[in-house]
This record gives sequence, structure tokens and C-alpha cells, in this order.
Amino acid sequence: MSPPCVLTVAGSDSGGGAGIQADLKTFMMQGAYGLSVITALTAQNTTAVTGIHAPPPEFAAAQLDAVLSDFPIRAAKTGMLFCAPIIEAVAERLAGAGFPLVVDPVCVSQSGARLLEPEAVSALRECMIPLAALVTPNLPEALELTGIAVCDRESARQAARRILDMRGMGRKGPDAVLLKGGHGAQNDGMVTDLLVFSSGREVEISRPHVATKNTHGTGCTLSAAIAAQLALGADLETAVAKARDYLHLCLRAAYDLGAGTGPPHHLA
Ligand code: PLP
Repeated sequence: MSPPCVLTVAGSDSGGGAGIQADLKTFMMQGAYGLSVITALTAQNTTAVTGIHAPPPEFAAAQLDAVLSDFPIRAAKTGMLFCAPIIEAVAERLAGAGFPLVVDPVCVSQSGARLLEPEAVSALRECMIPLAALVTPNLPEALELTGIAVCDRESARQAARRILDMRGMGRKGPDAVLLKGGHGAQNDGMVTDLLVFSSGREVEISRPHVATKNTHGTGCTLSAAIAAQLALGADLETAVAKARDYLHLCLRAAYDLGAGTGPPHHLA
């Protein structure tokens, strides 16, 4: 029997730690069959992004049409989408898809490069986020999307609510938001993410902090693992918990490669 198909719509990282490369490694380790639509090539290593080359939006659309018309896709994620015309082309096609979508609202790399043009943030808010089963911002991304600097539980709740209210494409907004706490304060050596559902239900997910500089591609790996778990049939809360366990293992075993921020090690 074939494994369930899961799709990533994201950018390529020539350094192999983030983007499409992290997503496909994650999909495989989770036991899903990975498909990829490449929205941008990056010239990148562990220290910097030195170039970005995006295809014409029609070519991003052509890749998407090719996979959507042939594979029984069970779940998808988006990562680096780069510019408004690509976001619009992708959103138009994913709006009619009958599978859950995880939107990782990638804006800036850990090395400081912009992976989403500033003028494309509103397209992400209006076209992509409303389609999502889950949106997975880190704290800087939450600030960029909502203008709210998350510093405590109340501001986290407010930022999540604002994202849950992002309507568009004829949709009532995403089903849930996972506010990732990795850029925030640790509590007793734990990192806590807050999962907020549109119903108002909140779930805290805490895992031990891993002291490593090799955290390149952690956001990509987490959202890919969530999408793979959804493709395998897990409910959203279970998918997030299992993906967080997986990310913890990857970070504990991260490779100390390159002069900068090293890549995660994708373990079974
Ligand atoms: N490069 C690409 C192509 C990505 O999609 C991402 C994902 O967010 C990154 C780089 C950023 O990786 P990080 O911020 O973990 O270094």
C-alpha cells in the first residue's frame, strides 16, 4: 500500500537545512510520500542567503496543477512564498482543495534575509491564511502579521485571535493558530507553544529547551511534520504534539555543520 501523499509549497534551501529540503526529509521520516512545488530558489548556506530567484507565478501554478491533478493529496503546507503574485496563484488553486493546509507564514530567515517581500504580507493575510487549518507563526511573524508584540499569555491570546479573524477568499478564517514560543522566554527550561482554536479552546504544548545554535530550519521541520501527521490521519492536536516531539529529537541530534546555524538531523 502506498503511503499518504503530502505536499509542500515552499522555497528551496541550497544548504539543505530548511525549506523544501527540510520538508521532504521530514515527510519521509514521518512515513508519508512527499510532493513539492518550488516557489523560489535560494542561494543559501548556514550563514546567509546570498540570492533569491523566483519562478514566474504561472510556473508555480503549473507545478501545483501537475500534482493536484494526479496525486491523492491528504494534506499540504506552505512555507516561503516570496511575493504577492505567487501567493495569489497558489491560493487560487489551494482554495478548492479538499485537504487540510498548514500555513507557515515565513517572513525572515534566522540569518536575517527577507523571504517574503514586505508588500506581500497583506496577500498572505488576505489570500493564504484564511484557507488554513493551522497557521504556525513564531513571535516575530506574529508581530509582522498582527502588529502585536507577544510578551505574555494575554498578548499571545490577542495575536492568535487577530490571526483567527483573518478572513478572505470566501472563508471565515483559519481553524487554529500555533503561536511558537521558541523566540520567547523559557520557563524552567521549557519552551511553550500555544495552540488556539477558532472555538476559543487553548492548549499549551511544552517541551524541554534544547541548547544548540543549530536551529536552522526548525519552523519548516515543525510545519512539515504537522502536515505529514495530518496526512497520516491524526487530528490537529495530536499532529502538533507528535510534530513537536519529532522536532525535539531533530534538535537534540542537530548537526554542527557550517560556520553558522546548522541544520536539524532528521531522525526516525
Ligand atoms: N530558507 C528557506 C527556503 C525557507 O523556506 C526557510 C524557512 O523558513 C528558511 C530559509 C528559514 O530558515 P531558518 O529561519 O530556520 O533559518
